[in-house]
Amino acid sequence: MIISGKELSARLKAEMAEEVKGFPAKYGRVPHLVVVLVGDNPASVSYVTGKAKASAEVGIRNTTIRRPESIPEAELLELIASLNADAEVDGILVQLPLPKHIDEDKVIAAIDKSKDVDGFHPLNVAALWQKQPCTLPCTPKGIIKMLKAAGVEIAGKRAVVIGRSNIVGLPVSKLLLDENATVTMAHSRTRNLAEVTRGAEILVVAIGRPKFITADMVSEGAVVIDVGVNRDPETGKLCGDVDFAAIEPKASVITPVPGGVGPMTICCLMENTIECFKRRF
Ligand code: NAP
Repeated sequence: MIISGKELSARLKAEMAEEVKGFPAKYGRVPHLVVVLVGDNPASVSYVTGKAKASAEVGIRNTTIRRPESIPEAELLELIASLNADAEVDGILVQLPLPKHIDEDKVIAAIDKSKDVDGFHPLNVAALWQKQPCTLPCTPKGIIKMLKAAGVEIAGKRAVVIGRSNIVGLPVSKLLLDENATVTMAHSRTRNLAEVTRGAEILVVAIGRPKFITADMVSEGAVVIDVGVNRDPETGKLCGDVDFAAIEPKASVITPVPGGVGPMTICCLMENTIECFKRRF
């Protein structure tokens, strides 16, 4: 079974759009998401455009604020402070990566926790690890939604997550643990990676290397979630970290790239924006 994140997210966005229609009558306005884009990195521009498009579909007001690559850190922090103070702003997202002269951690920590739709603020991260209410990071949240929508039983399963980044690997491992999977976290220093991955009933791959996971690394019947977004060096087309063509016949469930985890990430951003909005009333 191929889980289409594109189809699932379209369905969820349509449901959200229905709900948002009722907000002006109930709350006097619709949710407002502000996306801050520094510089003109093509990948970042495309992500920000995708977020604006999804906002329009759901009926969320979206403002994209563009600033030049050369913006001083202090000026960016001032902008965030003004957005924090703006009662008409419900969600703030600073598109990453930021230019080298800007401290990303400082910028993320400057966002009001209650408007942190990415779930990257240290207080949201701490709450996640303490199993307290928080805004969940979008990609891990989307992955769990996909598994559940596909009817995958997570409890008791051996899950292997490759990659330990703050935005994907670490939080998705925690969410799988909270769903009672037995989680192994693998990374670039893992020995005998293929042996580890072959033991996975659920394999989540977030590395950033085209088609790194080959068929011999996956067991028959495994559930495979491919988070990677790469350019295939041979064709120049988008591809994941998983060799989809070789593994799809072996896997019981697999996500494609594009059209898998990516659309679910944006869908969860919409959901997070609505959640942050509702908490303000
Ligand atoms: P990242 O911060 O670069 O982390 C990559 C992780 O992969 C690191 O933990 C690294 O291990 C591990 N790794 C690298 N080479 C490895 C190897 N040969 N064997 C085992 N592990 C290895 O990446 P990220 O931000 O998590 O993103 C990962 C991928 O997901 C990228 O392609 C990114 O574009 C994509 N992504 C997609 C979405 C989406 O919505 N679809 C969202 C976020 C990211 P060490 O820690 O040991 O260095």
